[in-house]
Amino acid sequence: MILTADYHTHTPFSHGKNTVLENAEKAKEQGLQQIAITDHGYTHVVFGLRRRKIKEYRAQCEEATRKTGVKVLVGIEANVLGVEGHSDLKETDFEDFDVYLCGTHLCVWYKPFISQFFSFFARNYSTEKLHLKHSDKLIQNNTLAYCNTIKNNPIDALTHVNYLCKCNSLEVAKVASDYGTYIELNSKKTHFTDEELMDMALKTSVRFLINSDAHSASRVGEIERVKEQLGRINFPLDRIDNIDGRLPNFRFKEFKQRL
Ligand SMILES: [Zn+2]
Ligand SMILES: [Zn+2]
Repeated sequence: MILTADYHTHTPFSHGKNTVLENAEKAKEQGLQQIAITDHGYTHVVFGLRRRKIKEYRAQCEEATRKTGVKVLVGIEANVLGVEGHSDLKETDFEDFDVYLCGTHLCVWYKPFISQFFSFFARNYSTEKLHLKHSDKLIQNNTLAYCNTIKNNPIDALTHVNYLCKCNSLEVAKVASDYGTYIELNSKKTHFTDEELMDMALKTSVRFLINSDAHSASRVGEIERVKEQLGRINFPLDRIDNIDGRLPNFRFKEFKQRL
C-alpha cells in the first residue's frame, strides 16, 4: 500500500509544529502528489485558525505548491458542535478553502452552547475520563451528532470518528456513504475496533481516506498504525481513495461548483 496524498496535516496556524512549506517538503520526500493543510476550526478556543490570517494561510499553501511541486490544498479541520449537526465553518467561509474536514474536539464553542456543553461535551468527557461504560443514550446522541453534521454540511471527511464521541460507526458510515463524505482512518491514533472497520466496509458503500493527522513535518505521510490494522484484518484496500495512485472525489469542491 502506497499513500498518494495526505489530507490531514497541521501547522502553527493552529497547533502544528512545522511550517506549511516544511510539511510540503516532507510530502515531496515521501513521494506524495498532494497534501492538505487542515488547521483547526474557528471556534476552537485555544488553537483555532483565525479569520484574519486566512490570506497568509492560502498564500503559504500556494508558495509551497510552487516550491515543491506537491499540490498543497488549503483545508480546515472544522468542529462538530453538537447533536444538532452544526459545524463552525460558515457558508461565507467556503470560498477560502479547498478541503473541508470535520471532527470532534475539546474546548470549542458548542452550539447551542449551554445545552451542548452539558449534554454533548461534558457527558462524553466525563464518561471517557472516568472510564465509564457509554450509555446507549449517549451513543445514540453521538451518532446523531455525526449524522446531522454530514447531512447539514458538505464535509469531505469526518476525522477520527469515535474520538471523544463514541458512536454507532455503522450508522454513521451509512449516512456518510449516502452523502459522499469519507470516513478517515487516522494514523495518529486508532479509534475503530477491527470489527467496526470490517462492518463499515462490508455492510455499507462508504469510502475511506488514510491520513496522518501530522502535527509535525516528520509525521506527514506516516500511516504505519493504520497499515498494520488493515493488514491484520485483511481490509478491502480498494475502498480507500488516497492510496496506490488513486485520488478522491471531494464533495465540498463539487458543492461549491454548484453554488
Ligand atoms: Zn482532530
Ligand atoms: Zn487534526
